[in-house]
Amino acid sequence: MNVAANIKPARGCLIANTWRPAAIGKTIPVVSPSDGKAFAEIAAGEAADVDAAVKAARAAFDGGSWSKLTATERGRLLMKLGELISANAEALAQIEARDTGKPMKQARADMVAAARYFEYYGGAADKVHGETIPFMAGYNVQTVRDPYGVTGHIIPWNYPAQMFGRTLAPALAMGNATVMKPAEEACLTPLAIADLALEAGFPEGAINVVTGLGHVAGAALSEHRGVDFLSFTGSPEVGVLIQIAAAKNHIGCTLELGGKSPQVVFEDADLEAALPVLAGAIVQNGGQTCSAGSRALIQKSVYDKVVSALAERFSQLTAASYDEDADLGALISAKQKMRVESFIGEANGPGAEIITRGKVSASAPEGGFYVAPALIGPVAETHRLAKDEVFGPVLSCIPFTDEADAIRIANDTEYGLVAGIWSRDAGRLMRVGKAMRCGQVFLNGYGAGGGIELPFGGVRKSGHGREKGFAALHEFSQLKTLVHNHG
Ligand code: ADP
Repeated sequence: MNVAANIKPARGCLIANTWRPAAIGKTIPVVSPSDGKAFAEIAAGEAADVDAAVKAARAAFDGGSWSKLTATERGRLLMKLGELISANAEALAQIEARDTGKPMKQARADMVAAARYFEYYGGAADKVHGETIPFMAGYNVQTVRDPYGVTGHIIPWNYPAQMFGRTLAPALAMGNATVMKPAEEACLTPLAIADLALEAGFPEGAINVVTGLGHVAGAALSEHRGVDFLSFTGSPEVGVLIQIAAAKNHIGCTLELGGKSPQVVFEDADLEAALPVLAGAIVQNGGQTCSAGSRALIQKSVYDKVVSALAERFSQLTAASYDEDADLGALISAKQKMRVESFIGEANGPGAEIITRGKVSASAPEGGFYVAPALIGPVAETHRLAKDEVFGPVLSCIPFTDEADAIRIANDTEYGLVAGIWSRDAGRLMRVGKAMRCGQVFLNGYGAGGGIELPFGGVRKSGHGREKGFAALHEFSQLKTLVHNHG
């Protein structure tokens, strides 16, 4: 692999600024989704490694040099790490693309976003402050935002580098000491960025990374009594386990658990602008995006027109090896490919029919986990393809009659993460946007180039709590009220 000199291969778990093999000495092979072959290995961390990491974080927080830094100094370290990510972006993108199967152009965009998280939260670190509250005579009341202490972070495999920045940067900005458990399927860029954090000069114990299996290392981290707050992004099923573990330890958590996000197209929409976005929002990262726009809700009067334009686009979409920079790459694993294909297999009659499929490039290596994108419709509102998250390049088209019908169908899911509304009527955009039960709504658009500044999160099965923007700084800190009776 052609990587820059200062990006080293994965070297175990990072605990107290030292790379160590897992305590049990075992490793897990790293498979490239593009050809199904193992090309590296990571440490199989377990409870003992998690325990050492939590202790290192505790020491950093309770009197270690990390705890002595001012907010400005923490911010400078974060910004330095952002600069190092940018300086090594091409090498990191190569690792990310090989590890996840995503096209290089996506991996490159991800590195820009990963660096931006550290830049944004580095700049914000010393701009979070409390308030004074008018109270009784003789009192001065002020609020301060305290860090929790040790924060535990469990992230998925779809955007490893971005997720690393998204969850760690705000936690560190607020002064927490962190323990990260990246996903076993793809964690090479989190490890490489953690290595760059050493170069940036982060003090011992501020950032600890333990790799390992979810039900082993992840469970140990979520259940550890030394952790003061948990941040999880992943499946709703594991999200439940995380919330139970948090409850048992009487701590809080943020959960970001995916979605079945609607893109709503009204008959008065600018279709030329909407169409590429409709397709792009489900094809990005092979549809393996929590906020993927996986349901196209299309007003009946323009349904045929929109669907035939989408069909033309979908029939041209190609999945290929990451280095070919096609529309999409391989999916993350054989398991994920099987799951997505089984969903597509359910589009076999009234209630859900395949309109068209894209293709897998003839040059795609044997053994890779490729799935040709699928455009499906009309999908009945009750069908699984209208309700369940596929996490693959599958767009379900669902017709609706009017505004009320659109709102009803858009909200008729257990999830609620993102929505997109397309119309030329400003009043309608605002009415429908306000009626969406989800955390983020785009009016005449969808997604926003990483959107680091934009609070993001879900309702119900999509989770709770907000990441990104200043909201994340509030999530990773707790308000303390100081009441001073000065007489
Ligand atoms: P997916 O199904 O998309 O792989 P998961 O929710 O299983 O999503 O994985 C997201 C993250 O949660 C990964 O880092 C994974 O290792 C971790 N994880 C999986 N199972 C558990 C568990 N029982 N406890 C804690 N973390 C887990």
